[in-house]
Amino acid sequence: SPIPDFLDETLDRFRPDRSGENADYIPDLASADPEKLAICISTLDGVEYTSGDADYEFSIQSMSKPFIYGLALEQEGLAGVLEMVGVEPSGEKFNELSLDKKSGRPLNPMINAGAMTIHSILGDPGASLAERTEIVRAGLSRFAGRELSIDESVADGEWREAYRNVAIANMLRSYDIFYDDPDEVVRGYIEQCAITVTVKDLAIMASTLAGGGINPLTGEQVLSPRVNRQVLAVMMTCGMYDAAGDWMTEIGIPAKSGVSGGVFGVMPGQVGIATFSPRLDRHGTSVRGAKIFQDLSDRLSLHIMDAP
Ligand code: GLN
Repeated sequence: SPIPDFLDETLDRFRPDRSGENADYIPDLASADPEKLAICISTLDGVEYTSGDADYEFSIQSMSKPFIYGLALEQEGLAGVLEMVGVEPSGEKFNELSLDKKSGRPLNPMINAGAMTIHSILGDPGASLAERTEIVRAGLSRFAGRELSIDESVADGEWREAYRNVAIANMLRSYDIFYDDPDEVVRGYIEQCAITVTVKDLAIMASTLAGGGINPLTGEQVLSPRVNRQVLAVMMTCGMYDAAGDWMTEIGIPAKSGVSGGVFGVMPGQVGIATFSPRLDRHGTSVRGAKIFQDLSDRLSLHIMDAP
């Protein structure tokens, strides 16, 4: 049939590209098979078209950030969350030690400083590490429409090398951005990043956002329309960090990358798209993933700013 053939042909054209490098600071990511390549597109009624290693599991990493932002917005409301984390693109690397000069808040929830602050909001005040980790795991599972689990080997590896994230969390604590134990926030955030998914899961998660917050498999309204819009708007402007402008002008599909090599994109009202390929560019985005998104955008006219 035409769609799977189209996807097979697309992957075949990018398969020979070996540029970029695996993330090297988490042992399990450094040793991931760099040849793995997969794509999945999910319609708003949950029909999935796949090609390549579509059942291969990898850690969700920073692709968890938009979803956790949505869960925090549902819990605390828009105003409450905005008091703690802004919505301005930082133009900086994802793990920059940065706070907004004027407001003192992390600039946005897509960079680590903002994402860890958002993580700290989840649950009752003073929630334990285990409680928060379960809120995150169960919450991401509602977007995926199946029970996700945590790869503790990925989490342990990242924890051993977490100097930068520990520094960010201590900075946040020292400025009273949150009052939790910084080490617990980092560990919880790392557990969040170590939740494993396939491109099929990511495409369903993306199509939940594409469909106004309704999971196409379970029918559950996971996010309210207003929160869903907020998540997508922030993801579009901040999700690709210091490459956000290039990504939106050239590819034009609101998207989020993770250092495991996954990328997912959201076409509001249309489809969720996910790719996986471990080698990264200097922004921490999958090289072949970005090229495939560019190719789909060009050939299927998916740039959201193109007049239909
Ligand atoms: N766990 C990674 C980190 O916090 C996630 C970063 C990413 O995927 N860009 O450093």
